[in-house]
Amino acid sequence: MHPPMSRLVFLALSLELALPAAAAAEEKLQVVTTIETFADFARRVGGDEVEVQSLSHGYQDPHFVEAKPNLMVILNRADLLVRVGLDLEIGWLPPLVVGSRNPRIQRGQRGDLDLSTVLEPLDIPTTKVDRSQGDIHPLGNPHYWLPPVNAVRCARGIRDQLAELRPERKAYFDEQFRKFVDNLKTAATRWEAMARPLSGLKIVTYHKSWSYVSRWLHLVEVGYIEDRPGISPSPAHLAQLIQTMRIQGVRVIIVESFYNRSIAENVAEKAGAKVVAAPSDVGATPAIKTYFDLVDAFLKGVLDVVT
Ligand SMILES: [Zn+2]
Repeated sequence: MHPPMSRLVFLALSLELALPAAAAAEEKLQVVTTIETFADFARRVGGDEVEVQSLSHGYQDPHFVEAKPNLMVILNRADLLVRVGLDLEIGWLPPLVVGSRNPRIQRGQRGDLDLSTVLEPLDIPTTKVDRSQGDIHPLGNPHYWLPPVNAVRCARGIRDQLAELRPERKAYFDEQFRKFVDNLKTAATRWEAMARPLSGLKIVTYHKSWSYVSRWLHLVEVGYIEDRPGISPSPAHLAQLIQTMRIQGVRVIIVESFYNRSIAENVAEKAGAKVVAAPSDVGATPAIKTYFDLVDAFLKGVLDVVT
């Protein structure tokens, strides 16, 4: 007849208890990044050991992401949070991390990785910058991920943290990282050859977000449309900028797609320059799916206008 109910219940219970433990060994590490470029790095280095999700999209201004509750749910499951740091995400990330109630990714925990700590930031203010006055780069320039030298540092930082979280897979993460670096070396040689005509090019940018790229490709930054990082331009500032551009013969204004293009177009027209809508993150356009696509698209955009 029927087996006694108590035995069924016992079976069900022991299955339930046994399953999560067995699954744990196979589970992928849940990696959450604040920008899509870091998600690409994490997928490359983490391979089939990770599941990766980005909190923001490359077509958004990473300084100002809407802190939607669904992002808290994503963070709740994270084993590792990879962020830009240098206050880039300060306007939206901290309340999400606290609200996620996930002890693994709280500040200073093993699951909290601030990649600005693995490289040397540029544009560190020499005088005290008060954020209340609107400057959004008070600790240095957070837009550092595009040049290959920094991409390697970021990927290495991710590798080290993954290896710490899952030491038994360290050799695998090392191998994945080496593959990425090999691909990157080949690409960087090609990019640097492509960019040779840009060396010494005078540029104006909307936001002070291209310092690392300018240093890499020897571009000369003559001015910025924003008065200071995060501060809208005054008419007096723009008039001065147009004057400077004319005197210096600046032909290019680099603008991320999420900034006010009409201001840039207006300045460009008066100064005899052209606007380049440059991608700054993976996902800036649907075609930019990887870090390699990103650098390709950036270079092509600038080269199209200049040459
Ligand atoms: Zn910025």
